Amino acid sequence: MTKHSKNSLQICLLRLFHAKSRETQTAESRWHRQSRMNFCGICGLVFGFLFTFFCGISSADTLAATSSAERPAWLYPQTEVFRRRLEKIAARGISFTDYHIHTRGGMTPEKALHREADSGIRSAVLENEGREWPLNDNAALAAHIAAARRAAASAGKALPVGIQVNDRDWYKRLDPKLLRQLDYVLADTMIMGETAEGKPQRLWLPSLKIPDADAWMEAYMRHNLRILDEPISILANPTYLPDGIAAQYDRLWTPARMKTLIEKAVRNNVALEIQAGSPFPKPAFIRLARQMGAKFSFGTNNFDDKARDLSKWFDAIDAADIGPADIAVVKLNFR
Ligand SMILES: [Zn+2]
Repeated sequence: MTKHSKNSLQICLLRLFHAKSRETQTAESRWHRQSRMNFCGICGLVFGFLFTFFCGISSADTLAATSSAERPAWLYPQTEVFRRRLEKIAARGISFTDYHIHTRGGMTPEKALHREADSGIRSAVLENEGREWPLNDNAALAAHIAAARRAAASAGKALPVGIQVNDRDWYKRLDPKLLRQLDYVLADTMIMGETAEGKPQRLWLPSLKIPDADAWMEAYMRHNLRILDEPISILANPTYLPDGIAAQYDRLWTPARMKTLIEKAVRNNVALEIQAGSPFPKPAFIRLARQMGAKFSFGTNNFDDKARDLSKWFDAIDAADIGPADIAVVKLNFR
């Protein structure tokens, strides 16, 4: 029997024996604290071990395989690689919080709390604020905060709630009493200037044209520094460049520019985000930021309720030798 066919047979037998084994908590998945261990689960586990003995493969593999097919999309897959990487960063004394979970596309504060309980990676929720965005007035902001607080209260957990600000006058436009209820404010630099129609220019749209990359970069640096002077907590996706000029990253992001940006982030107590889905910032920037005393936060930036691959987080920690002292204590900088 090949390993694959043995595994398949084992899976079938385990399923026949008891479907409940899929939800049991095992030694190798101890961070899945909400899993329920019950009598049926124990049966499945014992049978798994016995069958494993004869088949020569680990029950950990089998339980991972049986559970992955039916786990909710917002939970991280129970793979050996993921478990090992989480254990490795835990051994370094690092614990993650995902500060970039949007409540959009089916993602909810409740699902974020479920993911936290399942993975041990703490959750924090936010949504986009601005005139052209879901949180476009005080009432929408109040409802966003209330929904997160309600979910946290009914789960008996803390769930930091934030906003992602997309207009540059957010701190003057929104009710300061509401803003003070937030736990953090996140901003990126991906909207700059205006379109021909007078709308805010979204830099990720293919319609963006940059005829002179160097001149554009000068304006973009001013834009970055201006955002870092807002009372934000996290700069998301730092050193982002639009598609049209991203290939010139190493030339445009000179050490001098990187230093200027990092200095301001450090001075203003703004965390620099390492984002799961983004190629920015590059390792050279992360290493320099660490040397200069910057603090890092982590984020996924979801568009739906599916868990995202966190390889970028783990890779950044390895590449820049990030330790617990480099992780940001994220707090509200708005007063
Ligand atoms: Zn976002």
